[in-house]
Amino acid sequence: MAADRRTVIENCAIATVDADDTEYTDGFLVVAGNRIEALGAGRAPEGLADVGRRIDATGHLVTPGLVNTHHHFYQWITRGLATDHNLFDWLVALYPTWARIDEPMVYAAARGSLAMMARGGVTTAMDHHYVYPRGSGDLSGAIVRAARETGVRFTLARGSMDRGEKDGGLPPDFAVETLEGALAATEETVNRHHDASFDAMTRIAVAPCSPFSVSTELMREGAALARRLGVRLHTHGSETVEEEKFCHELFGMGPTDYFESTGWLGEDVWMAHCVHMNDSDIAAFARTKTGVAHCPSSNARLAAGIARVPDMLAAGVPVGLGVDGTASNESGELHTELRNALLINRLGAHREAALNARQALRLGTYGGAQVLGRAAETGSLEPGKLADLVLWKLDTLAHASIADPVTALVFGAAAPVTASFVNGEQIVEDGRLLTVDEDEIARATRAEARRLARIAAQG
Ligand SMILES: [Zn+2]
Repeated sequence: MAADRRTVIENCAIATVDADDTEYTDGFLVVAGNRIEALGAGRAPEGLADVGRRIDATGHLVTPGLVNTHHHFYQWITRGLATDHNLFDWLVALYPTWARIDEPMVYAAARGSLAMMARGGVTTAMDHHYVYPRGSGDLSGAIVRAARETGVRFTLARGSMDRGEKDGGLPPDFAVETLEGALAATEETVNRHHDASFDAMTRIAVAPCSPFSVSTELMREGAALARRLGVRLHTHGSETVEEEKFCHELFGMGPTDYFESTGWLGEDVWMAHCVHMNDSDIAAFARTKTGVAHCPSSNARLAAGIARVPDMLAAGVPVGLGVDGTASNESGELHTELRNALLINRLGAHREAALNARQALRLGTYGGAQVLGRAAETGSLEPGKLADLVLWKLDTLAHASIADPVTALVFGAAAPVTASFVNGEQIVEDGRLLTVDEDEIARATRAEARRLARIAAQG
């Protein structure tokens, strides 16, 4: 059967990111259908049947595909704006533009965001989309379509906002939904697109935007909806000192206590940022197994601060990495976030002991899969798991003289991707996407960015 044809990858270093951090300096992998069938040291076993392809991966490191745990695809067409602002000033500057997005813009932006990540080794992506202006079209459908076309595994976190300016929130009133409208549209999105099966390419999560743009009722009822439908929950939390102040003024408690009071701590929840966490906040996350999407570049860009990732890991909090929206991280890449996570955390309290290269790789792979609730399926290279993997080329000028391959990948320059596989299908070859046309996407995103700027300027 064609689906069970085997691909053999040989002569490569392998970092499995399994529970023991098993690595091979010279090893092989066998992919059968959409699963990893076998891997180990030396050459692949002789006499394998149905081998459709044999890849000599000399000079490469093979790792699990990268997993992105926080993003806002639509921001691809508002990059490079409000470049010298903190979070709240940046949001206030950009909301009026974001409120003008429509379906063609969101589709183009999603394709741009996905293509940029996929060509850099991301095999599982997510989009937290929370801007649904009235009459803007089927935005969720457009995002899911873009992910299917790119060929990456995908979670759409169906976001929402119902606390506009008149209710003390940050977004303009015309950019928010009603409580009932947001809940109904979220349920419809789950019913239409969510696939709970083991090798699902599309999952949906319930994802009100943040405490400062969402009513307490929407937080509570959103959590109840997610649990009734059996899907995960996602939101922004503890991103800045301003947010902490906002929560104390409005709710009489800090963000973590507010999340707990609204049903938002639990092993089915993951939260973006979590920069301003005290010891008891971290203990609450650890106790409830609430996950964290660490977004080091975005936190630096918006001067939010340094999340306490070493303390979270020591306490047992699941932590993955996030690009975040590209209006606050213009690069849009995840593979460079391995390095940024390591370097930025070493500027914090734990200094050189904060994170090492293996821990950084784990954040970007297995940690991300844990946070998205998919650690049984992807995030490490083990027999029976899905064939989501990347061949990083490390034998050229940029990396060839670095002592070991994992160190080269994390500490070195952004490594070229020779091949990336999702669900056993190759989607990248020699740094180019096989599934979509990058140049066409670049033209389309530029045109939609200009159209949005024009419409926003008209007010
Ligand atoms: Zn975000």
